[in-house]
Amino acid sequence: MNSVVARKRMVAELVKRGITDQRVINTMLELPRHIFVEEAMSGQAYSDGSLPIGEKQTISQPYIVARMTELLALTGREKVLELGTGSGYQAAVLASLADRVCTVERIRPLAMKARKALDSLRLLNVNLKIGDGTEGWPEEAPFDAILVTAGAPGLPECLVEQLAPGGRLVIPVGDRVDQKLLVIRKALDGSVTREEADDCRFVRLIGKNGWNDE
Ligand code: SAM
Repeated sequence: MNSVVARKRMVAELVKRGITDQRVINTMLELPRHIFVEEAMSGQAYSDGSLPIGEKQTISQPYIVARMTELLALTGREKVLELGTGSGYQAAVLASLADRVCTVERIRPLAMKARKALDSLRLLNVNLKIGDGTEGWPEEAPFDAILVTAGAPGLPECLVEQLAPGGRLVIPVGDRVDQKLLVIRKALDGSVTREEADDCRFVRLIGKNGWNDE
């Protein structure tokens, strides 16, 4: 099956599962996910599952990528922070839907591979940094949207501080295995609300304001 047909099938499945944001749907129809996975796994690139990307890390399941992106409600004008670049696929989705993306990955070899994949798609609006994303990226703040793509034990307060008025933050929070997506919204007057969305299972967010056991 060629990759265009495989992508159409993958996206049809996402729509069946409830994804409705047409911009997210169009982007995931366009973006070649297979270039973000190891060659040996490219046959599975368009099935709705997470896949290993080396360094004991994973590229997230397409449904959860679509769902988290949808929860950010991007219009194309935003500056977005992503924590946990991993393969770079989620960063590519964000870069296609927002004005600028800042993404942080703690594992150097993954960051290097992700940079290569993003460059090959000429996604030049992605700024990638190697480091501990649990501290956010204060020099680049404020952000209109923040997406954390690793499971956290709690909500790092510094991320809420780095969110612009009117901004949205989506983060999986829970234990080492199971989490729930937490959606934080900062109103224009600076007041903050939180809401729970889908159950999910992410690898751990490791760092100063995350898990500190590795
Ligand atoms: N968004 C990724 C993608 O599209 O492939 C998937 C992310 S993967 C599920 C989680 C990533 O978060 C891993 O690559 C891991 O190394 C990274 N990570 C964990 N803790 C981190 C931290 N404190 N700062 C930055 N990255 C972190």
